[in-house]
Amino acid sequence: MLSNIRIVLVQTYHPGNIGSAARAMKTMGLTDLVLVNPRAFPDEEASRLAAGALDVIEGARVVERLEDAIGDCVRVVGASARLRSLPLPHYDEPDKLAKDLVEDARSSPVAMVFGRERYGLTNDEIRLCSHQVSIPANPDYGILNLSQAVQVLSYEVRRAWRKHAGESTAGAGSIATPPTREQVGHFQSHLSRVMQRSGFITQPHAKTEEQLQALFARATPSRKELSLLRGWLSSLESHLPSDGNR
Ligand code: SAH
Repeated sequence: MLSNIRIVLVQTYHPGNIGSAARAMKTMGLTDLVLVNPRAFPDEEASRLAAGALDVIEGARVVERLEDAIGDCVRVVGASARLRSLPLPHYDEPDKLAKDLVEDARSSPVAMVFGRERYGLTNDEIRLCSHQVSIPANPDYGILNLSQAVQVLSYEVRRAWRKHAGESTAGAGSIATPPTREQVGHFQSHLSRVMQRSGFITQPHAKTEEQLQALFARATPSRKELSLLRGWLSSLESHLPSDGNR
């Protein structure tokens, strides 16, 4: 189950932080590390700071875009020190987040995403996540070093796993399978396309679009419900004049 919990580091600048993050992961039993476009990797400093977690570093996957790191995940939580204005569901308490991650990870991959040392995650990257989390640190100075943020949240995951691992999964079969981020992404693009083609919104990334996407994120539709919504969008789309006639 812990092997289904992925740590994603976006465009890490200092390779030492990658090593320290790998060590933080391994101490908590996590092994799946994905690096999005790191500045320098593989790197001696990363290996040095990984210490006994060289296997995590050696097994790390490097991808170009965040989408490629999380497409197969059913819950993706972006870690941010500061709250942005994005209306995504937000975990104020990491233990609640950890419980949900462990629950989903019984059957599907999930991820926690960490940003760059200098400016964290961009709004576009956060938009690819299903949730956000902030570690409730000192309000006067609450920005943790990247690998320490990985440590704190990995520890929460381990605690939740120890606490809930023995719990029966009876009834889990009846819980509808959540969609992957890739499926949610297809739905969001479809929704945006129909809203634009119908003239409901006139420009991409409009606030309305963001608010509706947040509404669907809060509703946490199942895979089945999402495909129902896509069917509905397709049928609406078939009644719209084709682009060439507008
Ligand atoms: N200067 C950046 C923060 C960089 S810290 C900014 O202002 O956004 C590097 C990463 O560590 C962040 O992107 C975030 O993923 C994580 N992090 C640091 N402090 C955190 C906190 N209090 N809660 C959640 N994540 C945190």
